[in-house]
This record gives sequence, C-alpha cells and structure tokens, in this order.
Amino acid sequence: QPELTGDFGQLMQWVDKYRKLKVRTNADTPQDAKVAREFGAEGIGLCRTEHMFFDADRIMAVREMILSEDVEGRKRALIKILPMQKSDFIGLFREMKGLPVTIRLLDPPLHEFLPQKDSEIDELAKVMNVTAQTLKNKVEFLHEFNPMLGHRGCRLGITFPEIYDMQVQGIMEAACELIKNEGFSIIPEIMIPLVGEVKELAILKANAVRVCDEVIARYGVKVEYLIGTMIELPRAALTADAIAKEAEFFSFGTNDLTQTTYGLSRDDAGKFLPFYVESEIYPNDPFVALDQAGVGQLVKMGCEKGRATRPNIKLGICGEHGGEPSSVIFCHHIGLDYVSCSPFRVPIARLAAAHAALKG
Ligand code: PEP
Ligand code: MG
Repeated sequence: QPELTGDFGQLMQWVDKYRKLKVRTNADTPQDAKVAREFGAEGIGLCRTEHMFFDADRIMAVREMILSEDVEGRKRALIKILPMQKSDFIGLFREMKGLPVTIRLLDPPLHEFLPQKDSEIDELAKVMNVTAQTLKNKVEFLHEFNPMLGHRGCRLGITFPEIYDMQVQGIMEAACELIKNEGFSIIPEIMIPLVGEVKELAILKANAVRVCDEVIARYGVKVEYLIGTMIELPRAALTADAIAKEAEFFSFGTNDLTQTTYGLSRDDAGKFLPFYVESEIYPNDPFVALDQAGVGQLVKMGCEKGRATRPNIKLGICGEHGGEPSSVIFCHHIGLDYVSCSPFRVPIARLAAAHAALKG
C-alpha cells in the first residue's frame, strides 16, 4: 500500500491486527477503486451503477428505453448500453484483483433520467421516430412530486425488468470473460436496492438467476455469485427475517434509512437541521453520525432477524456512516462483517474498527 508509508503506515499495520470489521469502499470507477485499495480497502461494498449512465452517449439510450412504447423498443435501446456496462465492470473487477465487489443495480430517482429541455425532447423524438408531443405527454405522465419516495430502486427493476437483465448480463459476461481468459477468481455480488417487500426481491432474484445461469452456460465456466439486497427502508428492517429467505447478503443503506426513519429529506435537511443540532434537539446530524437510538436500532434488528433466518448471511453497511468513527464502532458492536465508505475514509474506518475491538 504505497500511500500509507512511514509511521502512519506502521500504525495502520498494527490496527489491522486487532480489528474484526472488514473495511470496503464505495467506488464506481477503477480510479476510485485504485485509490481505495492503496488506502487498504478489502473490496467494493457499493458500486452505484446509476453514476455510469449519465454520459451523453448513454443517457440518450436510457431515455429511449424509459419512454419506449413497447418491450422491443426498450430492448433495442439497452443493447446499445450493454457493451459499455460490460467494460465498466471488467475495469472494476480487474482493479480489485479478486477482492469482493458488490454491484448495485440501477437506483436513480426517475426524474434524473427524463429529458427536461425542449431541445433534448426534439433530439430524442427523432431517434425514436415519434412526435415531440408524444414524448412530452409521456414525460409528464412519469412526473413525480417526491421522486426520492417514488419510482426508484427495485421499483424501476420491477416495472422495467429489461434494465436489470441488461446489467446482470453485463456483470456476468465481465466476470466470465476474466475468469475464462485471465484466470481471475471473482465472486460477483449483485445487490438489489430499495427493497421493502420480500416479493420484490423474489421476483428480481429469479430474473437475475435466470440471466446469470444463461451467461454462465454460454461461456462454459464455473462462476459463483451472490444475490443480496440493501436494507434501507424501515419496512425492510422490520421484515428482514422474510427478506433473508431470498438474500445472501444485506447491506444497510443508512442514508435512505435515516431519511425514511426520520421522515426527513436527505436533500433538504440542511435547511433546518443545523438549528436542531445547535439547539441540541438532535445530538448530531443523523446523516453524519448514525442515530444509534433510532436508526441504529433498525439496523440491529435487521441483523438479528436476518441471522435468525440465515445464520451465515453476510452483513455490511454502505451509507455514509460507514466511514464515521462513532458509527463504525456501533457497527462493530452489532456484529457486522464489514463497513464500506468513500475511498479517503478507508484509513479512518480501519482505525475506528481497531479502536472498537481493543476497547471491547
Ligand atoms: C444509502 O441509502 O445509504 C445508500 C448507500 O444508497 P444511496 O446513498 O445511493 O441512496
Ligand atoms: Mg439508498
């Protein structure tokens, strides 16, 4: 780990002897993954694939897919993106050199993908061979007042199964190619976001397994893979025993779990939250330090219920709290397997994890 040398490097080697928690990183590009590995990350705990869809050449195809009238139109649009996604995943797997990589299927608020400007609608209308008015009506129909509580996460995967099928195909083709041609060992972890009801996960898992098995048979290689979910809605934590029947791992999304437990928009919190913290109504900003009395109890319950159904279920956290020391210490005490945080927080998380283990 070239970035951590000298006394600090020595200290970090000591802390690694004591900590029980693994430390992974949140990374969407090979560059981020490289930085994180140099800081000691032991895997990727969250790759947010929606961040891969905003390039000019992809956003058009995604819009085409969302606004298509039929399945065939949707599939035609996605065929354009598949090779790009596949090379994204090859890049990440290569950089992580066999360490675990959790790839989360698409989770955007839908409005971020819809065309807004007239010029964008006109351009898309030409590609799709429909009138601009037809597209405008469709965009209007899809408009939401609360997109963060709306048509996002796995709800998108349920209504547009072709998107998740394409992503799973990209992940598995990337893995199979590296295993077959470069002798890699990879166990991809496919993660479904914003599940609140086990049936959502059961449907999406069945789709993912079908696509994985088809790709594996086509390449003729042996590949293991895991399918799991984020626990980021109170209902998911409350029903984690049922959800664990379908999930091989849980990753706690404490950004959304904080938002939905407090009923407080994570995008607008800055307006009054500083006043609450200053007045000591809230001890901390709950989006920074995990609220152990409330949100943390849901995380703890989720772990207990998950383990009751599936004793060896893998448990991690990938909300921003995964790199905040007091939250990392809490994660140690409730017995998570790993925390995942942004690359530059990896050393802090390693220290906090050792601190927790030494203090007992
Ligand atoms: C979360 O909700 O905690 C999470 C990690 O997902 P995102 O921040 O992408 O919503
Ligand atoms: Mg989330």
